[in-house]
Amino acid sequence: MQQVLPQSFIDSLAGLPGFEKDKFTDVHENTEQVTSIRLNPLKPTPATNDLPVANTVPWCGSGRYLSARPSFTLDPVFHGGAYYAQEASSMFVDHIVKEIYRNQAPPKRVLDLCAAPGGKSTLLAAALPGSFIVSNEVIKTRVGMLSENISKWGSDHVIVTNNDPKDFKKLPGYFDLMVVDAPCSGSGLFRKDVAAINEWSEANVEMCSLRQQRILTDTIGSLKEGGFLIYSTCSYSMQEDEEICDWIINQFQLQPVKINIDPSWAIVETISKKNAATGYRFYPDKVQGEGFFIACFRQTNPVDNFYGYHNKVAVAPKQIQSIVKPFLKNFDDYLISDQKEIVIASLKKWEEEIATISNTLNVRKSGVAIGTVKGKDLIPHHELALSHLLSNDIPAVNLAKEDALKYLRRQDLVFENEKKGWTICRFGDINLGWMKVLPNRVNNYYPPNWRILKA
Ligand code: SAM
Repeated sequence: MQQVLPQSFIDSLAGLPGFEKDKFTDVHENTEQVTSIRLNPLKPTPATNDLPVANTVPWCGSGRYLSARPSFTLDPVFHGGAYYAQEASSMFVDHIVKEIYRNQAPPKRVLDLCAAPGGKSTLLAAALPGSFIVSNEVIKTRVGMLSENISKWGSDHVIVTNNDPKDFKKLPGYFDLMVVDAPCSGSGLFRKDVAAINEWSEANVEMCSLRQQRILTDTIGSLKEGGFLIYSTCSYSMQEDEEICDWIINQFQLQPVKINIDPSWAIVETISKKNAATGYRFYPDKVQGEGFFIACFRQTNPVDNFYGYHNKVAVAPKQIQSIVKPFLKNFDDYLISDQKEIVIASLKKWEEEIATISNTLNVRKSGVAIGTVKGKDLIPHHELALSHLLSNDIPAVNLAKEDALKYLRRQDLVFENEKKGWTICRFGDINLGWMKVLPNRVNNYYPPNWRILKA
């Protein structure tokens, strides 16, 4: 989409590190936006004849540029969670995580504070498979989309919560890594979100800056001594970027962390005026990606520690365990619990963390939903079909694209000679969901509220 930017906005950027007015306005007014995806390491890579994959994103090994923008809605493997459509600059979080944990153990407990719709959380889930990840979103109406994207991604080590930043005061010194991808004035996404251009104003930048300070004031205390904070925005404005970095150092005495970058990436390294914090600016006239700012800090001061609750997760009776067991891989790694009639599998190794978060925050999704037990049978849950917990012994059928789309629209499918019972529908070896093959028909179990409505 070609856009003319307001003069007041352009004027406000004058003098910013790396800002080149003519190139910047030209890339907004005369060029097409870039499309990129991040592949899911838990799932088979989609075939290139289905997805126009071009180059790898330089700072993220699983990031791919696409040579054309496909209809994600009409791509079955998108619904199977084989990739996440994500703007390339923001995938730099992957590079930071790899750099800071290059020479030390990965973080145990991770918080993604402003998580919806789930771009950074799915990235963290892939980059840190051995960590416990709390994916939080304050706005209730955005949590459903976040949970759906986490379910599709198929990880078992992410818990979704719906809490205000101030609720994290109950968890002092708890997290080893905290990502604050703060709500901002959004100028970095003007090429993708044209409506945002009209909402931009100096007053809104100021309002966002104050809100960012409030969010950080409420949550920095939950960072452990030695823990890292990654702060990012999709705004170009200094008040939301370098000035916030200076403010973090003034208020909380965190140490700025410099990250190694390859000069060929054309990311602009900036140094904040007062406290010399290093930050990284992404301009769409320099990188293949949208506008983005990111900085990293370390908590080097002593902090009060909250060690968490030691409650046990209440496990389901043996009979339920034996019904679900044939559906799961690595059954012994999981605690099986029965929550509001849905059987959930949670990693045993995170039992204390799950108890702590459940006792302190408003949990919206935890572990992987396995299904509902009815008599001696399990009605398997959609989340199980999309997760890596699913046993390889469950029958599966690879569908042609037309049938895969029919399945995702929840239309009737016709099969002959298929084995009767619960069966996984796949496209290109990527699981899409459940169907039940009966003697005279096939029942489509794709979740009604997830179905494709587009023709
Ligand atoms: N991290 C997300 C991703 O990668 O998909 C994008 C996050 S978006 C930039 C900022 C998020 O902050 C939004 O989901 C928004 O609902 C949330 N938010 C808005 N006001 C907030 C507040 N006062 N405290 C915390 N989060 C807030």
